[in-house]
Amino acid sequence: MLASISSATLAGAVGRPVAVEVHVSNGLPGFTIVGLPDTAVRESRDRVRAALLSSGLTWPLRRVTVNLAPSGVRKGGAGLDLAIAMGVLVATGQLPAGCTEGLSFCGELGLNGSLRHVPGMIALADATAPSALVVPLCDVREASLVRGGAAHGVSSLSDLAQILRGLGGWPAIPPAPSVPPAPAIPDLADVRGQPLGCHALEVAAAGQHHLLMVGPPGSGNTMLAERLPGILPALTLEESLVVTRVHSAAGCLPPDGALVSRPPFRAPHHQASVVSLVGGGSWSFRPGEISLATHGVLFLDEMGEFPVAALEALRQPLEEGVIRVSRAGGTVTFPAQFLLVAAMNPCPCGEGVFPGACACSAAERARYSRRLSAPLLDRFDLVVPLARPDPEKLLDGTPGVRTAVSAARVTAARTRAVARTGTAEPPIHPDGSRLLASKLREGVLTARGLRKLTRVARTVADLAGAERVEEDHVADALCLRSARATVTP
Ligand SMILES: [Zn+2]
Repeated sequence: MLASISSATLAGAVGRPVAVEVHVSNGLPGFTIVGLPDTAVRESRDRVRAALLSSGLTWPLRRVTVNLAPSGVRKGGAGLDLAIAMGVLVATGQLPAGCTEGLSFCGELGLNGSLRHVPGMIALADATAPSALVVPLCDVREASLVRGGAAHGVSSLSDLAQILRGLGGWPAIPPAPSVPPAPAIPDLADVRGQPLGCHALEVAAAGQHHLLMVGPPGSGNTMLAERLPGILPALTLEESLVVTRVHSAAGCLPPDGALVSRPPFRAPHHQASVVSLVGGGSWSFRPGEISLATHGVLFLDEMGEFPVAALEALRQPLEEGVIRVSRAGGTVTFPAQFLLVAAMNPCPCGEGVFPGACACSAAERARYSRRLSAPLLDRFDLVVPLARPDPEKLLDGTPGVRTAVSAARVTAARTRAVARTGTAEPPIHPDGSRLLASKLREGVLTARGLRKLTRVARTVADLAGAERVEEDHVADALCLRSARATVTP
């Protein structure tokens, strides 16, 4: 007897439909699985066999052949267990033929016949449309985010067999478990004595300009960076779905099965492996930090300490907004559209932004700055010097700009920029142009640098609510890249 069950497998953050064909025939008892299975899929035989026996069902003492179609797509993970079990049950007549019509199955089986969580449920649910999807009860909230009522959750194989025999209905979707609310994003007002840092953050958020903060340890760059998501606009529904999909594929969605609505903030350590940054691993690719930061902030503290391979891996996503990961199991593409914020010391001693304070030799400084390649440095529109704040300013109690105030300015600036799309850009004020021309003559600015600087000046003008770019805005933009020389290789 032959049965064909519809299912899906995860490739990166995308689901691919899989037809699980099970053939049971007379002959020596055995189990063969073909169609590019990975180790976890091959091991499904033992899980499915034990799960059937513990659920009061029978494992056939016959020849079982499982084919995973299309055969050219690699299949990873344990999520095909449930479909294989269904195939065996239908092919051996333990379930009526036709009872799996219009249904797809994704889930891992425990040896006791329970259905267990599989990561990437959103992508799997997408891939199995339009048939209704049967998943472990713990995953049904996630699946119903994209499939609504066409997702059913069950907790065990024996329950599922009863339902398919017409002896019961689908269980109700369980209420959302209460998860502790996400910790509030700290307020920008806590950052004192860093007006340039706060301003740079606002410009970065308003114009999506990548920001490099150059300063000694203790200059508060981490405090600044973690406050950036607070001034970014909330995710649109489309962005929210992209972010939720990626986080679902990484298995790091909170259990309440809600969409991710705030821009993510990821701050990998410089000792993190390159794979954990870019994604990958085995055949079942997992998104890396670069993808988990999509539509949010990727913060690299002590950027000079990151391995060169990790920094170079940032260049493709910075240019294309996606990252392609190639391993033995093939190539997958993950979304990777993030705002990059990095912090680094200007030199080994850390004092290099202040004239006269640095104790490093010219050779030491040159060696240090070579860690950052020129093309990567070029990605940062904003390169700001950060000094340790003046102790008096830290103590005098005057709070900085509140997050709510800054966020409102960012939203207004973005609205202005959007309203301008398609219309002719008003020319820069003649005084501003003169200032730019003098910088070009001095060699402080290249033609490429000029384009970037003009974009930043435009964002500064948008934040100020100005119609055209004035001299002040140009001067401000120059100030926001003034630490570039200290870190240029
Ligand atoms: Zn130094």
